Amino acid sequence: MTTSQLETTMTDQLQTPAVTDGFHIVVDALKLNAVDTIFGVAGIPITDLARLAQTEGIRFIGFRHEQSAGNAAAIAGYLTQKPGICLTVSAPGFLNGLVAVANATTNGFPMIQISGSSNRAIVDLQQGDYEELDQMNAAKPYTKAAFRVDRPEDIGIGVARAIRAAISGRPGGVYLDLPADILGAELDADVAVHSLVHVVDPSPRQIPAPESISRALELLASAQRPLVILGKGAAYAQADQEIRSFLETTGIPFLPMSMAKGLLPDNHPQSAAAGRSFVLAQADVVMLIGARLNWLLGHGKPPQWSATTRFIQFDISPTEIDSNRPIAAPVVGDIRSALQALLTDLKPGSVRASSAWLDAIAQRKRLNAERMAAHLAATPDPMDFYSALRAIRDVLVNRPDVYVVNEGANTLDFGRNIIDMYEPRKRLDSGTWGVMGIGMGYAIGAAVVGGKPVVAIVGDSAFGFSGMDDDINHNGGTDPSPTILMKSARYEKLIEAFGGTGYYATDTKSLANTLTAALASGKPALINCVIDPKAGTESGHLTNLNPQGIPVRK
Ligand code: ADP
Repeated sequence: MTTSQLETTMTDQLQTPAVTDGFHIVVDALKLNAVDTIFGVAGIPITDLARLAQTEGIRFIGFRHEQSAGNAAAIAGYLTQKPGICLTVSAPGFLNGLVAVANATTNGFPMIQISGSSNRAIVDLQQGDYEELDQMNAAKPYTKAAFRVDRPEDIGIGVARAIRAAISGRPGGVYLDLPADILGAELDADVAVHSLVHVVDPSPRQIPAPESISRALELLASAQRPLVILGKGAAYAQADQEIRSFLETTGIPFLPMSMAKGLLPDNHPQSAAAGRSFVLAQADVVMLIGARLNWLLGHGKPPQWSATTRFIQFDISPTEIDSNRPIAAPVVGDIRSALQALLTDLKPGSVRASSAWLDAIAQRKRLNAERMAAHLAATPDPMDFYSALRAIRDVLVNRPDVYVVNEGANTLDFGRNIIDMYEPRKRLDSGTWGVMGIGMGYAIGAAVVGGKPVVAIVGDSAFGFSGMDDDINHNGGTDPSPTILMKSARYEKLIEAFGGTGYYATDTKSLANTLTAALASGKPALINCVIDPKAGTESGHLTNLNPQGIPVRK
């Protein structure tokens, strides 16, 4: 190159402003806000976004179905207090992911579904684009917030709004719509850099009003039979030390909701889990910490509860208060700050559980534990839920670090009672909606962000939602009844197709041995645990939720 040619090139470079595009701006915005993992399914129009994110050092965990990707993102959000990101394609991919983002919103898990979408000008006039759908408006009713970016210079602010909406206050699922033309749009690189937003303090502390703390302490001090209920909001808040310290200082018995199991170990002497119905009916003052009085708690109403119970409720969402029962002492704030304030104001000896109350609970626990022990000691052939879960429990007792994902009907009901948890946020289950289909997504999400092994204990019906789609049992042209699953299905063969190890366990010994071997291998494994097909009931504990109509003629 001659000197004059070189000068011309340099002048060109100086005069032609550097440009970037929507893809790069999205990735830069995510990186600026410390997003390090994306779960998703690549395709038009976001394939290059997934590729670029990966090139730029963000992990992209690819799935086969968006619902599982969304569930993985949601549970990652729950475990890390950072929004889990799920990336989907337009229309059907977006809709598949929407179930997961709605589930995240219901459970209070922070996640953001980022979806590509088709050309707005065509979509809005319904002129028939490829995968045409007005996605933002479809997402609105099911999310905490839904945004669409219509100019490349707004990508930074769009990502910032999505992050803040997902993790501030009560966390939830957020939708961020990125039309294809915005992803491909060019923008001056300098303008782009200045359009990025670093979200400062996205989940600010929310310190409760001091008078709400005194009111709560007064009510507690007046209680004869106090009870604390810990919910998954308490687990999410990561106020483990504060919660333990409050409970152990006061000696109040506690009941963990299923995902709060392990906040204090299940074998803690103050756990009233084995006397659940007794304490719910008998407690005179109940302190809810990050738990809603929804269907999972019988709405706080008789017959499960006493009509005279008075409530203290710790929650970050002011509108949760008085949602089902009047709350005598609401404490609105984040649980960590609220518990810290409570501990500061707690006068030694002012709040105590009476020994008569503790003795009554201990007696009830003993009775129920004996009944349970008798079921657990039996060795039926084939296995039933008790014996199969006992075998799993005896292996997991030595591995408190393992995440336990649990879903199904009977598998969920029995699993919750039989599998003890010893560490916080290790149990991940069907949650507020009581859904099936979260299993494989949660398992993958937890493994990715938690870095620990995951054991997913799922019923075969639940496994069918996310583990596979082809266990339909057709024989001889006769359609089976809607609830029939293929009992002889060799589910364990599936994992072999993907390089994992499949095990077939028909008794408690082989189940314990295979689970131990699977955990030791550190590799993906699927244990097909064959129990008595007649064990359990249709819909598990929820049989009563089936509406009763005129019986269907057989
Ligand atoms: P569970 O199903 O375990 O009973 P829920 O999901 O019904 O729990 O209730 C969790 C509650 O915790 C929600 O009402 C939510 O607003 C609240 N919550 C979530 N995170 C926090 C937090 N950091 N501080 C205070 N409350 C919180």
